Amino acid sequence: MPGNVFITGAYKRQLEIINELEYVVNYSNELVKPKFLSANPPELLEEKHGSLLYKLMNGLRLRLHTGINDFNKNLFRTAASDEFIQAFDEKFPEADFSRINGNDDKPLFESIGLNFIPCCLRESPSIIEKAIQQELPALIETGDIKSIIHSHSDWSDGSNTLEVMAQAAIEKGFEYLVISDHSKSAFYASGLSEERIKEQHRYIDELNNKLAPFKIFKSIESDILNDGSLDYSNAILSTFDLVIASVHSNLKMQEEKAMMRLINAIENPYTTILGHMTGRLLLSRKGYPVDHKKIIDACAANNVVIELNAHPSRLDIDWRYIDYALEKNVLISIDPDAHSIEGFDDIHYGVLAAQKAMVTKANNLSSFSLQEFESFLAKKKSSRKV
Ligand SMILES: [Zn+2]
Ligand SMILES: [Zn+2]
Repeated sequence: MPGNVFITGAYKRQLEIINELEYVVNYSNELVKPKFLSANPPELLEEKHGSLLYKLMNGLRLRLHTGINDFNKNLFRTAASDEFIQAFDEKFPEADFSRINGNDDKPLFESIGLNFIPCCLRESPSIIEKAIQQELPALIETGDIKSIIHSHSDWSDGSNTLEVMAQAAIEKGFEYLVISDHSKSAFYASGLSEERIKEQHRYIDELNNKLAPFKIFKSIESDILNDGSLDYSNAILSTFDLVIASVHSNLKMQEEKAMMRLINAIENPYTTILGHMTGRLLLSRKGYPVDHKKIIDACAANNVVIELNAHPSRLDIDWRYIDYALEKNVLISIDPDAHSIEGFDDIHYGVLAAQKAMVTKANNLSSFSLQEFESFLAKKKSSRKV
């Protein structure tokens, strides 16, 4: 049924959790239902005028928005938040939905004289005002990512060797790779002792000689301890090109404790990037409570980058708070937290979330060219007061 079936809903809005897979179909309930009759038919959970909800054999919920007369309207209305649709209706009561042509609803926007708003931005009504003021930037794309920042090799709990990771990054067209294995407190993940760090740095120097102009940067994902300090001395921390600071232990804590640990880590002069801010795992762990604004303010004051961890179960910092970070000129870094070369591809999920927050390549650290990244690090180093 091509041309008559289009994906919509949470998937099209690029939301981080998709509870139902939704499609708009240009058929009535009566025409759709027989097509699902098979030896093992999916369970019909709900039938309403204009919608069918099935539970597929694999447990996935499939919602079909049906109806021939409402097809175009359904395409538009099911791919945005309710608040957006309400504001849109109030602002443009004359909008002619017949202009929509399947996945292409640009003609609808043209007909009402409004700058195009992509589906991923159809959340808050305030986006309509931004579009009227022509303030929508060019959103970041996966192709804008120049580097793998935040990755683990088999020196800690990653599954590939450093060299294999570097070669894979080169093959995928990246300009540099930041290796940030686990730190010594992460004993469960074979975190690196001071001795192992020295060895790894010698090895990275060797590889860099061999792989130039590609470059591997020396980093560590340093554990934020209970009191907010990092788990190496300043003498060791100063040997890294950059430090990612993350919480991995005692995640069950109140906001006050979480804030103390995070703010202390952000104020550490060696911290370059704050890793996965809340420790959440989508669908399984909520993450500790934080005051996002205060953390962002501290990152702004200390020139610390906030990671958008691109692993699909993290996507942490949540995209809903990124606009405040951008307002405060805090850089975001879309990082895969890759534990294997296959993990590099998770960048795509981070980009989908970043697009919802109107991140551009200029405010994403992993979009910096090698040269831009080196001057960013040099600047950070020279501003360090220890
Ligand atoms: Zn981590
Ligand atoms: Zn990590």
